[in-house]
This record gives sequence, C-alpha cells and structure tokens, in this order.
Amino acid sequence: MERLFCVIPCYNEQEVLPETSKRLKDKIENLVSEGKISPDSRILFVNDGSKDNTWTMISELHAGDPLFQGINLSKNMGHQNALLAGLMTAKDLCDVTISMDADLQDDINAIDAMLEKYHEGCDVVYGVRSKRATDTFFKKFTAESFYKLMNGLGANTVYNHADYRLMSRRALLGLAEFGEVNLFLRGIVPMVGYKADVVYYERAERFAGESKYPLKKMLSFAVEGVTSLSTKPIKLITGLGFFIFFVSILVFIYSLVRHFTGHTIPGWTTTVLSVWAIGGLMMISLGVIGEYIGKIYLETKNRPRFIIESYIADDEDKTVFDKSEHR
Ligand code: UDP
Ligand code: MG
Repeated sequence: MERLFCVIPCYNEQEVLPETSKRLKDKIENLVSEGKISPDSRILFVNDGSKDNTWTMISELHAGDPLFQGINLSKNMGHQNALLAGLMTAKDLCDVTISMDADLQDDINAIDAMLEKYHEGCDVVYGVRSKRATDTFFKKFTAESFYKLMNGLGANTVYNHADYRLMSRRALLGLAEFGEVNLFLRGIVPMVGYKADVVYYERAERFAGESKYPLKKMLSFAVEGVTSLSTKPIKLITGLGFFIFFVSILVFIYSLVRHFTGHTIPGWTTTVLSVWAIGGLMMISLGVIGEYIGKIYLETKNRPRFIIESYIADDEDKTVFDKSEHR
C-alpha cells in the first residue's frame, strides 16, 4: 500500500495549525482505516521562517504523534521554495505526496478522488477550484486575470489550480531534474509530463488568520512566473519592432507624397522618417539581442531534456539502467 506524505508549507500559521492538524489527522486516519493508504503515512509541515509560534507548535505536534513531521527552514524563503523543500524531502521517503495550504481552503475530501486517479495510473493530479463563490470579487477578478495573463505570456498553467496537487514519487524525481533557482511549480509540473488529470473541489474561506498573499506578493509572483518560464516578453519586443518598422514604411510613402506635392516645410520628411525607421530598427535589434539573452537564460537553467517514463529490457540491463542517471 502506498505511503502518503501531505506536504504543507506554513508561514505564521499559529492561528490555523491546531485546527488544521486535527482535521488532517482525522482524514489520514480515515484513509488508513479504509485501506487507501499505508499506516505509516505522514503529515509534513514546512515552517517557512515564521515569526510566530508556528515551529514550536509543529515540534509539539511531532512530540505528541509521529504522524506529524516538520522541516524548519533557516529563514523565510517564500511559499514555492518551502513547498519544494517539503516535496524534495518527501520524494525519498514515500510513494505519493499531496501538497496543500495550511489554511485548508482546499477541500481535503478531494484527497480520496486524487488517490483514486493515482490508482488509475495518474502521476500528477491537479486540484482545480470548481468555482470561487467564497472569494471576494476583487480576489476572484485579480486571480482570474492572473491566469489569463500568464497563459498569454507563455507561462502555461492549469486554470484555477493553485498548489493543491498529488504527485507520485517518479513525478517528483522528474521535478528534481529541473535545476532552476526560480522554480515556479505550477508552470514546471506540467513540463514534467506523465499522465495527469484534474479533480474539482470547492474552495472554502480561510477559517482563521489572514492571507499571506497580499496583492503585492501576487504581482511579484506573476512576474516571477512569466519571466522564469518563458522568454515570450522578448518576442513581444521583437514583434513590436517589426510592427513599428512596417509603420515606418507607410510613413515613408506618405512623406514622399507630401514632399512631392509640396505640402511640407524643409526638413520635415527626413525628421519624420528617421524617427520611425530608427525607432523600429532599434526595437528589432533589442529584440534580436533579447532572443540571444533568452537562449542563454534558458540554457543556464540546465533543464532536463527528457524524462524517461519506462524502459523495457532484460533484467540485467534494467538493473544497470536503474542505477545510472538519466538526463
Ligand atoms: N506561505 C509560505 N511562505 C510565505 C507565504 C505563504 O509558506 O512566504 C504559505 C502559507 O502558510 C499557506 C500557503 O503558503 O500555507 C498559502 O498562503 P495563503 O493561504 O495566505 O494564500 P491565499 O490562499 O490567500 O492565496
Ligand atoms: Mg489561503
């Protein structure tokens, strides 16, 4: 039976931890008694440099019940890095992980459906919000614009999926191959591949404490997402350059006509032409340089070029294969 690790990043979550740990413990115990996961499954809290009692509480939880485990980060590293620290620790210990937020806004009853999909052969199962009834209009609007903008800019993410997700061990091993420092998990996980599916759930309100994601953090998260996943903004500059250069050709024809019909003061034609032509050429050049920088940027990430799903061969060859690294 599969050993499940629930990975939960926590930043200043002392208000929610007692309730969260209680609800999760019940959930895990139910799953164990129903025979869906193995009895040595664990709940792994990652303390992301909290300034309150979060870590003390996690240590007490662990002392009271081995079901709870904790990782203490040296300082606040941000949600994504905290989550990654948890997942990378879990990948060597368990068969399957489910990541979620400490405030349990994501319905933990969706875990059953996630595990079912996992048993059907999925390596990644995305939790997707069916609707945002409980979010304020502002949060809903900003969050939905966020997904649209991100996709438009080349950061392909699963719509309305936050970081509530099941990942198998081998999907995590695949994720570990991505050597980038700015890891935008929602964008990278789809790049890992393997069979994936979604499970819908309704998102509740935060039952205690307040959001650790104010608008400012959300914006920098969006910028991070786009710039860390794609070089599409550079392509936009190139496109703009070509557009302006095209306009300059129209202006060229127009000013020649004006010039020869004598409707211009001396110097007008050359001034107007140079402004447009030079502007367009400069923009194109910037874009071209940008394309190269973009390539260098992606190279420095040292992303895996492939991830092998399976290898069929004689046992001996397989043993050799399993022992070596593939990337
Ligand atoms: N979080 C974290 N480090 C941070 C900010 C947030 O580990 O620097 C965690 C937080 O404890 C929570 C999750 O990320 O478990 C999501 O945060 P929150 O619920 O405040 O975001 P929202 O649901 O409002 O978008
Ligand atoms: Mg929340």
